[in-house]
Amino acid sequence: MSTNVVPGSFAHGRLAGKNAIITGAAGGIGLETTILFLREGASVMLCDISEPALAKAVTKAKDMAPHVSGRMDTMRCDVSKEGDVEAVVAKLDEWGGVDIMFNNAGIMHGDDADAIDTPEKIWDLTQAINVKGVWFGSKHAILSMRKHKKTKGSIVNTASMVALVGSATPQLAYTASKGAVLAMTRELAIVHAREGFRFNALCPAPLNTPLLQDWLGDDQEKRHRREIHFPSGRFGEAIEQAQAVLFLASDEASFVNGTDFVVDGGLTKAYVTPE
Ligand code: NAD
Repeated sequence: MSTNVVPGSFAHGRLAGKNAIITGAAGGIGLETTILFLREGASVMLCDISEPALAKAVTKAKDMAPHVSGRMDTMRCDVSKEGDVEAVVAKLDEWGGVDIMFNNAGIMHGDDADAIDTPEKIWDLTQAINVKGVWFGSKHAILSMRKHKKTKGSIVNTASMVALVGSATPQLAYTASKGAVLAMTRELAIVHAREGFRFNALCPAPLNTPLLQDWLGDDQEKRHRREIHFPSGRFGEAIEQAQAVLFLASDEASFVNGTDFVVDGGLTKAYVTPE
């Protein structure tokens, strides 16, 4: 599916002229980030494993960002398959190569549990998407940036707050996967710094997105078990993550590299919270 939003119009904005790939673009954080990137002048390739969800995402992005200078296109991509990721990155050769890679796709499986009860196949699936997906995205973004002789580039990898603090409501495979994203991002940041390629990890707190909210459903006790820990008394919103990603992706963050960029309303800094 290919959509040139307003071809040839004047480019302006914090990401003017930059080409971005967003994985998991049809989900909560991915779609809000797509909309912000488009409004700020980037061309955006939306990738997701779900084609129907991508079609809906494009409709919403066009509604929310109707007058933009960049291109918008979509490709189905399973980030755990290197060939899929390579194909998406190759598509950006026509646009001049990758400037921004947002490795954001991730899953938290309903059968993920503690050390005893997590099925091995859920462990493997979670690592394949959440960890290998970030590796493949980073690898092919670097290759594209080199091929197109970029002197700067920004890669943002979505980790999670649970990479920093332990949780008594365990999803062990998920937690381990996000810890790996943090460690991998840090090392990539150091290795590629002299090429001008920055790597930062986003650490969101629990959010109002389908990933968590579908899982919580109507279970008020499960919901309260988490909500009580927020100093603000509420879950985060996807747009609050997207604003942070926009900063990290932009040249405004030119000296921000290798960070665990925590966007959690203060949750990981709290001992007790207001009643
Ligand atoms: P979401 O479920 O709304 O979106 C995730 C998107 O990824 C979906 O559109 C889904 O189709 C897509 N996806 C799943 N598997 C894929 C694959 N193999 N290849 C490509 N796309 C795939 O979730 P979200 O809340 O927007 O989460 C985005 C990221 O943020 C994830 O990495 C998640 O772990 C992380 N995160 C979320 C929360 C939260 O509370 N929602 C908290 C911390 C971190």
